[in-house]
Amino acid sequence: MTDLTDLGVRAIRDGVRDGSFSATEIATAFNAQVAGARVLNAFLVETPDHALAAARAADDARAAGEEPRPLAGVPIGMKDLFCTRGVVSTAGSHILEGFVPQYESTVSQKLWDAGAGMLGKLNMDQFAMGSSNETSAFGNVISPWKRSDGGPGSNWAPLAPGGSSGGSSAAIAARLCPAATGTDTGGSIRQPAAFTGISGIKPTYGRCSRWGVVAFASSLDQAGPMARDVRDCAIMLEAMAGFDARDATSLQLDVPRWEAGLNAGLKGRRIGIPREYRVDDMPAEIDALWQRGIDWLKDAGAEIVEVSLPHTKYALPAYYIIAPAEASSNLARYDGVRYGLRDPPEGANLQDMYAATRAAGFGPEVKRRILIGTYVLSAGFYDAYFTQASKVRALIARDFDEAWKSCDLLLTPTAPSAAFALGEKSADPIAMYLNDVFTVPSSLAGLPAMSVPGGLDAAGLPLGLQVIGRALDEQGVLDACLAIEERAGFTARPQAWW
Ligand code: GLN
Repeated sequence: MTDLTDLGVRAIRDGVRDGSFSATEIATAFNAQVAGARVLNAFLVETPDHALAAARAADDARAAGEEPRPLAGVPIGMKDLFCTRGVVSTAGSHILEGFVPQYESTVSQKLWDAGAGMLGKLNMDQFAMGSSNETSAFGNVISPWKRSDGGPGSNWAPLAPGGSSGGSSAAIAARLCPAATGTDTGGSIRQPAAFTGISGIKPTYGRCSRWGVVAFASSLDQAGPMARDVRDCAIMLEAMAGFDARDATSLQLDVPRWEAGLNAGLKGRRIGIPREYRVDDMPAEIDALWQRGIDWLKDAGAEIVEVSLPHTKYALPAYYIIAPAEASSNLARYDGVRYGLRDPPEGANLQDMYAATRAAGFGPEVKRRILIGTYVLSAGFYDAYFTQASKVRALIARDFDEAWKSCDLLLTPTAPSAAFALGEKSADPIAMYLNDVFTVPSSLAGLPAMSVPGGLDAAGLPLGLQVIGRALDEQGVLDACLAIEERAGFTARPQAWW
């Protein structure tokens, strides 16, 4: 029999339903995997009892002949940005160290209601700010992948799992969990998925409730699933999405049956190839991957058209004004008074206590964003930066609206490179920010976008392709990604060294 931890969401769900194995066996197997892979630092908290309790409930319900819940028996990982009742939730930051929420985020509650159990809380870039997991206050995650050519610099240089959902991506790639939650503000689901050879979808802004998700940039933050394949992402997203009165930006729409609707035949669909995504210095391998993706979609029946998104080059600068601006406002709540760290110096007044707590609690990248955000929102600079960036954002959204007149979906690479080594970009924030060049525009426009593995580079590292769709067309995005998945035949996985 195959190792139970090699199974994905669908295989586990179906196997538990038909009695091939029990949910308890599954939870036990994954709990052991998690405990055996601590060197990856993917989990900040392990919650084996939560996974086992959900599994027992699934087994008992089956024994009692009850109708199975959609995710009965499926244990998952939870990004630490989601507040989980009674379980420490830190957003990867020292300022929330030891914070135990009294409530459950809507998305995690929906997953528990669907029958899933939690294996633990997953490490991440601090407050979801980063692309490599190196901004976590609790040490970076190490990617389970290794370069086969020994570079750069040294043999077996440890690689970044991507970020900010790097605990999620590493855990899935290393088979520590079949699926996990992620969040994506400017690429944090898609880029780590691409770096680790898994799939991940950021749905349309408003599909998943933000209630109980620690806020980074509220007009961009969106939750979504990460898993080993497209179908598993569809199953997870159905459980996570849906209207929530507690999030004012939540969409009042029924959740489509994405899994049942999956169809990899793309006849009649037009796929746009945005000219402006051919950036300077793009590695030839990324270009070749993109071309393979185009050929696969043609093979699936789609028509390929060239389109233009003329304001693409302004997306990154606009994002790195808007996201820090919103972050500087959102993070004002960490004042040492209501929750989290309090670090008052001897004889401190209130102002000193705020300053000392925030100085001790936030990491350098978070401080950089707060400084940038406060600056661009300050009187005198507001119009020059924040208003200007908001206008650019509107133009970027308009570019997509124009493109949809001649195509239904867009195909691009997910990231401009394969995974880089830990430490390779951490000294240069701009080099790090450039990782988001292909993922940020769709975030600014609130559109659904997904990364799916497309192949390996010469060093044996995974590369991802991104499909972007019209608002609310997650089905189209999932279908095109399924068409790629069926043709890419991506079966590579990291060799266990941990
Ligand atoms: N890497 C981007 C940033 O640092 C995106 C992060 C995210 O999507 N949460 O802001």
